[in-house]
Amino acid sequence: MGTRRRTASARGTSATWVWWDAHRAHRKGPEAIRQRQRERLAELVAFAREHSAYYRRLYRGLPEGIEDVTALPVTDKRQLMAHFDEVVTDPAVTLEALQEFVADPARIGERFAGKYLVATTAGTTGTRGVFVLDDRYRAVTSGLMARLSTGWLSGWETVRLVVRGGRFAAVVATGGHFLAVATSTREMRERPRRHRRLRILSIHRPLPELVAELNAFDPLMLGAYASVLRLLASEQEAGRLHLRPVLVLSTAEGLPPGEHTRLEQAFGAPVREVYGCTESGYAASSCAQGWLHLVEDWVILEPVDAEHRPVPPGTVSHTVLLTNLANRVQPIIRYEVGDRVLLKPGPCACGNPAPALRVQGRASEVLTFPDDDGRGRIAVPPLALESVIDSAAGVELFQVVQTAPTGLQVRLLPAAGADSDQVWAAVLSGVTGLLGDLGLGHVAVERAPEPPQQSTGGKYRTVIPLPAP
Ligand SMILES: [Zn+2]
Repeated sequence: MGTRRRTASARGTSATWVWWDAHRAHRKGPEAIRQRQRERLAELVAFAREHSAYYRRLYRGLPEGIEDVTALPVTDKRQLMAHFDEVVTDPAVTLEALQEFVADPARIGERFAGKYLVATTAGTTGTRGVFVLDDRYRAVTSGLMARLSTGWLSGWETVRLVVRGGRFAAVVATGGHFLAVATSTREMRERPRRHRRLRILSIHRPLPELVAELNAFDPLMLGAYASVLRLLASEQEAGRLHLRPVLVLSTAEGLPPGEHTRLEQAFGAPVREVYGCTESGYAASSCAQGWLHLVEDWVILEPVDAEHRPVPPGTVSHTVLLTNLANRVQPIIRYEVGDRVLLKPGPCACGNPAPALRVQGRASEVLTFPDDDGRGRIAVPPLALESVIDSAAGVELFQVVQTAPTGLQVRLLPAAGADSDQVWAAVLSGVTGLLGDLGLGHVAVERAPEPPQQSTGGKYRTVIPLPAP
């Protein structure tokens, strides 16, 4: 076993190696994949114990050579942020230096300490997160995504993809250190030739501009948040957008039932969902049957109840615990993410033996407002709002509530030590700027008197639309 571990680490972890390793493991079958999972967990735990004061303390008294994740205590974003400098395994990384780094939008996608990718996440579980991701994490994500895209396409679609130049358009939140934009900015900066066919479009732009640019770029693969894809599908149905993609990837949010079929019909292409978060990396992706299959080689996902006991397949969990087997610089081990998931009992009809799941209640709601002459409606993707607020300095937690047909309130919790009025001024300027860009300058924005309110399951819904009349 020692030899095998050394071999895997010594080879380094390139995207190609990850691709090849996953390919081999999947040919050997589920037991070979689980064996890799156990070995990678044992390596990660040993590494964390050696290099992270936080994990050394947390795992004190536990036996050596842990291969079963359930033997480990649970952690969460609040804990990891509170003990940040002790959690990370590289002393060059400190929370103070990182916060200075993420406050500067000019540094999005730049390597922190000459090495790491940095990504922030919104405070949907009550705490804002700052994450440092190493090259191993990046290699695993790109290797797995490459394997996945080829697995999804037929021979004919792959030929179309190559013949038509493989253009990929991603519509993402920009203006902050969010994972998608940080990753793509870095890739385009460091490998301009390889990534000249990649186009990053901002969800903060008015829909007609997005539509015009997408029409001109004519992507073969389109990736966006589910809520944005739903808006684009309507544009496609209305005949304003005319894309002919071979594959559509839906990320970050779940698709409500029925929408999957509508999107596939609108785009004339398979729509696949990808599930994961900044902390876990890419964790699962959907099959033609609509189930998300876990990437067990690199992620451990445990659906659990409120006491962190496992729940059986067929039961919706209270929360999930995620372990990222790739990232070493900031180990994420049995980390609680507020998602409620349901594991599929029995095998999936698609033939993929990996555990299959569905995520409940991840579908974000799109806010819509009448336009200024009252004739049409303009939709605001939830992630566009979330990302402008999240990139304002000093925001710990927020919630946007539509209180009237043309009125919004923002519930705000400033970070400890931040000046509440200054934080609000930054948030207000971000939100009104976005609304103005979208042609919604007539929508009133005010600060709510109350702080953000938790919903069931402990998550904060960040965007709450007007209840249907
Ligand atoms: Zn399946």
